[in-house]
Amino acid sequence: MIQMKDVYKTYANGVTALNGINIDIDQGEFVYIVGPSGAGKSTFIKLMYREVKQSKGTIVINNTDMSELKEKKVPFLRRNIGVIFQDFKLLPKLSVYENVAFALEVIEEAPRNIRKRVMDVLELVGLKNKARFIPDELSGGEQQRVSIARAIVNHPKIVIADEPTGNLDPETSLGIMKVFEEINSKGTTIIMATHSKDIVNTIKKRVIAVEDGLIVRDEHRGEYGYEA
Ligand code: ADP
Ligand code: ADP
Repeated sequence: MIQMKDVYKTYANGVTALNGINIDIDQGEFVYIVGPSGAGKSTFIKLMYREVKQSKGTIVINNTDMSELKEKKVPFLRRNIGVIFQDFKLLPKLSVYENVAFALEVIEEAPRNIRKRVMDVLELVGLKNKARFIPDELSGGEQQRVSIARAIVNHPKIVIADEPTGNLDPETSLGIMKVFEEINSKGTTIIMATHSKDIVNTIKKRVIAVEDGLIVRDEHRGEYGYEA
C-alpha cells in the first residue's frame, strides 16, 4: 500500500531531510512516526500525499509510482488519502456541515448524496448536533473532530495525521485517538506523526522512529522511546 525504496529528499536550500528511507506499510496498519524535531518526520509523511517530491528513490502509494505521477493526477491520488494537521486548517467562515461538505463538493460528489454522507461522518466523530456551528464556536478537540470528518468523508484508504493532538490536552487527545481507532477498525490505514509519549506507550501500535533522515527503529507494538 505504501512502499519506499532508498528515498532521499534534499530541499532547494540544500538541506537533506531524508537520507535513504526504506519502508513497507500494509493496508489496515496503524503506524506512529516518532523522532526528535527536525528528524524528517513531516517530510516523510508529506511524500505520501505528494506535498513533497522525492529527490531520489522509489515511492509507490496504492500501486501508483510517485515518480511517474503527473501533476494533474495528484488530485486523484489525494482522493484516496485524508490528511489531518495539528492546527486543523478549517475554513473559519463555514459551518461544521459546510466544512465537511466542501470536501465532497470539490470532488463533484452528486449533491443528493452529500447531506447523508456529511451527517453520517459527523455522527461518527460525535458532532452531529453541532453541524450548524462555526469553528470558533467549538473547542479544540471538537475542531479536530471536524477536520477528521472532513478527511474521512470520502472514505480514503489512507489517513495521514501530522501531530493531530499537538494542540490538545491529554484527555481530549485520548478522545481523538478513539476516533482514529474506530476508523482504523474499518480497514483504513493510519499514519500518525506524534510527540506524545503517553499516547504511543498507552495505545500500542507499530512505531517507526526517524532520526537525521533515517529510520532507526521499526517495531510492532513499539514504545515511544524518547523523554516526553
Ligand atoms: P520533523 O517533522 O521531524 O520536525 P521535517 O521533515 O519538518 O522534520 O524537517 C527535516 C529537515 O528538513 C529540517 O532540517 C528542516 O529544517 C528541513 N526542512 C523541512 N521543510 C523544508 C523546506 N520546505 N525547505 C527547506 N528545508 C526544509
Ligand atoms: P437528524 O438526522 O438527527 O434529524 P439532521 O440531518 O436534521 O439530523 O441534522 C442535524 C443538524 O445538522 C441540525 O442542526 C441540522 O439543521 C444541521 N444540518 C443538516 N443539514 C444541513 C445543511 N445542509 N446545512 C447546514 N446545517 C445542516
